[in-house]
Amino acid sequence: MTGLSGLRALVTGGASGIGLATARTLSVQGARVAVLDLDPSAVRPPLLGLTADVADDASVRTAVETAAAELAGVDILVNNAGIGAAGTVEDNPDEQWHRVLDVNVLGIVRTTRAALPYLRRSTSAAIVNTCSIAATAGLPQRALYSASKGAVLSLTLAMAADHVREGIRVNCVNPGTADTPWVSRLLDAADDPEAERAALGARQPMGRLVTADEVAAAVAYLASPAAASVTGTALAVDGGMQGLRLRPL
Ligand code: NAD
Repeated sequence: MTGLSGLRALVTGGASGIGLATARTLSVQGARVAVLDLDPSAVRPPLLGLTADVADDASVRTAVETAAAELAGVDILVNNAGIGAAGTVEDNPDEQWHRVLDVNVLGIVRTTRAALPYLRRSTSAAIVNTCSIAATAGLPQRALYSASKGAVLSLTLAMAADHVREGIRVNCVNPGTADTPWVSRLLDAADDPEAERAALGARQPMGRLVTADEVAAAVAYLASPAAASVTGTALAVDGGMQGLRLRPL
């Protein structure tokens, strides 16, 4: 048992990629963990898998209440579920904008609303949102996704302000391109997925993709009592993509 011993955690989108790595890391560090996902069939004990669609308020409420009952409370909420979208503002119809914002932004609102009554009863309450470097980087061909993650960043700061006097800390992680099933699905669409993966890695400052476990470690830190004075921050786990200027001006 380590820094999260005795704490109870919910992770949305925890059946794959960054969410699954986060759920496992929180568990290894001593927390009891419930995963809320569209498809929790891959979730294995000691993780508790629950079906939930963050785009559906009733589904979120039911899953959060079930998780809180099973775990006897909630101390940590990781709002990680998210979906992508490629293209410029000319490429996505309104319905697509509504869908991505509904999952990536309102999904956080719904889950947080359902979990707040439990978090208020915790003596070590923390929310960690999975944002992205897309929130601030100005990435090409990612207008809708970037706008959704920009909203996640602003929402994180606003939530941190609203709940700081209740003892609930709110932070986010900003992963760079991370090696998850999401990215594998994108690469699989290329003619030569392995060559594309190597090229993608070579474009990163460190010459490789971020791993899901590296993002999970940052989430676990922000969720832990070790970060007791940390709220309203965005922790980049991006191999230096955001902060480094590798070519001279
Ligand atoms: P992933 O596709 O591997 O996993 C996402 C999980 O979320 C899946 O298990 C999926 O079932 C679940 N999910 C999707 N929609 C849901 C919904 N409506 N309700 C409940 N669960 C839902 O993706 P990933 O790469 O691990 O991404 C996780 C998060 O990290 C996302 O918020 C994403 O925007 C963010 N992120 C990823 C990267 C990257 O390069 N992989 C970079 C920056 C940020």
